[in-house]
Amino acid sequence: YPTDLGAPVRTTCPYCGVGCGVLARPDGTGGVSIQGDPDHPANFGRLCSKGSALGETVGLDGRLLHPVLQGRRASWDEALGAAASGLQDVLDRHGPDAVAFYLSGQLLTEDYYVANKLIKGFIGSPHVDTNSRLCMSSSVAGHKRAFGSDTVPGCYEDLDEADLLILVGSNAAWCHPILFRRMLDNRTRRGAKIIVVDPRRSATGDEADLFLPVTPGMDTALFCGLLVHLVETDALDRAYLDAHTSDFEAALSRSRAIAPDLATTARLTGLPKSDVASFFTLFRNTGRVVTCYSQGVNQSAQGTDKVGAIINCHLATGRIGRPGMGPFSLTGQPNAMGGREVGGLANMLAAHMGFAPPDIDRVRRFWDASRMAETEGLKAVALFDAIDTGRIKALWVMATNPLVSMPDADRVARALAKLELLIVSDNVASSDTVARGADILFPAAAWGEKDGTVTNSERRISRQRAFLPLPGEARPDWWIVSEVAREMGFAAAFPYRSAAEIFREHAALTAFENEGARDLDLGALVALDQDGYDALAPVQWPVPAGGAEARRLFAEGGFFTLDGRARLVPPEPPKLAASLCDTYPFWLNTGRVRDHWHTMTRTGKSPRLGSHRPVPFVEVNPADAARLGLSAGDLARVSTTSGSTVLEVEIHSGQAPGSLFVPIHWSRDTSSDGRIGPLVHGFVDPHSGQPETKATPAAIAPE
Ligand code: SF4
Repeated sequence: YPTDLGAPVRTTCPYCGVGCGVLARPDGTGGVSIQGDPDHPANFGRLCSKGSALGETVGLDGRLLHPVLQGRRASWDEALGAAASGLQDVLDRHGPDAVAFYLSGQLLTEDYYVANKLIKGFIGSPHVDTNSRLCMSSSVAGHKRAFGSDTVPGCYEDLDEADLLILVGSNAAWCHPILFRRMLDNRTRRGAKIIVVDPRRSATGDEADLFLPVTPGMDTALFCGLLVHLVETDALDRAYLDAHTSDFEAALSRSRAIAPDLATTARLTGLPKSDVASFFTLFRNTGRVVTCYSQGVNQSAQGTDKVGAIINCHLATGRIGRPGMGPFSLTGQPNAMGGREVGGLANMLAAHMGFAPPDIDRVRRFWDASRMAETEGLKAVALFDAIDTGRIKALWVMATNPLVSMPDADRVARALAKLELLIVSDNVASSDTVARGADILFPAAAWGEKDGTVTNSERRISRQRAFLPLPGEARPDWWIVSEVAREMGFAAAFPYRSAAEIFREHAALTAFENEGARDLDLGALVALDQDGYDALAPVQWPVPAGGAEARRLFAEGGFFTLDGRARLVPPEPPKLAASLCDTYPFWLNTGRVRDHWHTMTRTGKSPRLGSHRPVPFVEVNPADAARLGLSAGDLARVSTTSGSTVLEVEIHSGQAPGSLFVPIHWSRDTSSDGRIGPLVHGFVDPHSGQPETKATPAAIAPE
């Protein structure tokens, strides 16, 4: 370990999409002290419970520290050679369509970039998707339909400057705590109002000035009703609509068909008319409105339409891209947005390009690609289906645990067993996916050990910097992918010796034949040398060559559609994909707890974090619990048509009657039971491919 304990290292928290700056000071013996970075514009020195406990999570217990080949320790040469020859063998016998990668919003942008380049440009398969598909891909689809690009219009300062903050399907108090603190500060300092729209009254709803416990799936009806109300009260920004948008009449017509008046909106949403009227009036009368939305909107079989209905109201009032105004997608993962930037979704190429022929050709020429994917690939749920049916024979999973997180996860487990080749890159030795029996295990470097960049929810690129040595034989993901690519004969295209070289190439691709045609332009960062990369301060894209970073976009139009106009999109009538029945009479809702992250591979190491919610649980409404004879602390079995698990009962009045809430974090590795993935159905949004994880019909009974 380095013994120079001088200045702390500036890095970024590896948990949520807020992207807080962290000062890490290694103690010289493998430990580290953690503080918030007072100069980082996401958090100005603050950290939440998870971020402040990072120092407790850097130990090496449970780490995967050397390559493993067919269950035995192997050398890097052996493991890399086996991965390259295994992939080549599947390619030779079945073609590129039989190969897939499944990535993660935990990867750094540089890791993501080389993985995408290898599979889409040299293996020739488009089948690369990411757990970000489960996180916010409906926001991506909603942005692209409305703006022509996957662009978040605003910035965090808007949360400080809004007079009305609307949170839809978001428990920001627990899931984006530092941003929620900024919102509460705004209320204290400036008197901003906070409205929370959520079927479940979470810690966020507890703080609301107006809490709207909307019927599950009916968010679209609420915002359709709002659009109609804005029209009927003459609250539109006609000048903005005329100058910068199209399809308003079609969106209004559909909104009228769905929610023509206050009474219908109230009936569809299950809300008191007076509360709906208060919501409408507050929105109409407040210029500075930010509508934040999160997984309650995205993780839905109609998530893209929900996003569209929210954006419609902001476009219709011109409340976008100006201080304190705009729709705002709160990204779940630390680098979900960075992954999108380099093509981590199956329906995107690198640098926010799509699969239109000019984009394919541009990327092919830039990479000098030997075998370029030319169609969109399979999105996560379809990708695992294709493994189950035998179409995909080889899969490389990086930094994610689909046997816990995917819907219908037991089916995913059965599918993985059918693969001819399963490669897993991870830094834990025993996740469910690793334990499933990967043919090849690569030990990946973890947070604090590797260098790269991440992009947070406000388009801000920040550096993650190494402050600990690589343990054992662990290596950065970009290095592992590049070595396999070299073994496969693509050495000229994968010459990287540092994350900085990869970032420069990524930046160059964003600026390649761009000329303002695409939103993502890092032209000003193309010439960063190693010192410049090491010193890179947090910066919001686009940053074109010779230009300044963009804090906000679209106040004066300039959308990335062919005609430069935003589209208002007519949503489909809202309905849930599944139905309740006598056997499964409850809606099962899933989400996070305050102090854990994903499958707890890091937060599970901190006793302090573990003490907040020590065991997997199910929240039950008091009346339902009384009817079922359940008391707090009892064990109950929660079942759906695809699986069941035993959980500790928690009685919670914020839980609506007829609904259950379960956290997602527990796995076989952390608990004898409590995995939620097997219970959730895989109904997907037709536009985004994102699965519904908020409304699965379920049963609960005393165990
Ligand atoms: Fe980390 Fe998110 Fe907490 Fe910030 S809010 S410290 S990024 S978990």
